[in-house]
Amino acid sequence: SPALVRAESLIRSIADYPQPGVLFRDITPLLADREALHATTEALVAPFLGSFDVVAGIEARGFILAGAAAIAAGSGFVPIRKAGKLPAPAASVDYALEYGTATIEMHDDLPAGSRILLIDDVLATGGTLAAGRRIVEELGYVVTGISVLFEIEALHGRDIVGDVHTVFRS
Ligand code: IMP
Repeated sequence: SPALVRAESLIRSIADYPQPGVLFRDITPLLADREALHATTEALVAPFLGSFDVVAGIEARGFILAGAAAIAAGSGFVPIRKAGKLPAPAASVDYALEYGTATIEMHDDLPAGSRILLIDDVLATGGTLAAGRRIVEELGYVVTGISVLFEIEALHGRDIVGDVHTVFRS
């Protein structure tokens, strides 16, 4: 759609951020645009409508899109946060980063078997979303979809994440 073409043009690439050699995809100009944010949110949830109970978003930029997606779909929202940020974490998963490791945590306030749509902003190496899938499953919920705004195809993240819907890619 014209709105999505326009939205894609609002993703900005910043060289050498946050480290030399990294080309950072900055979605904040897209988020600031009423039409682009609306079209992108719809595109994130459209393939999954009717197949999930709750949207889970991964800190921090995933929260923005997952919150918007939950409103668009009429579902609830659950945060998956970096270690130490949630008051009552029920599960914790460690995963590898390019340099070092990270840990994510999640609460377990949903009914067992809840169907989850997992959302993040960018799919790079896939480590973050693979960990997101693991933590959801560890708590006894079911990942019925994974949806991401922007996929960096050269990093082959989908090889470890599995089936993932991406709105834009490079
Ligand atoms: P991965 O674990 O290597 O797939 O990295 C994905 C995580 O890092 C996501 O949570 C993204 O928010 C973040 N990330 C990686 N690359 C970028 C980027 O170019 N722009 C924005 N976020 C990024």
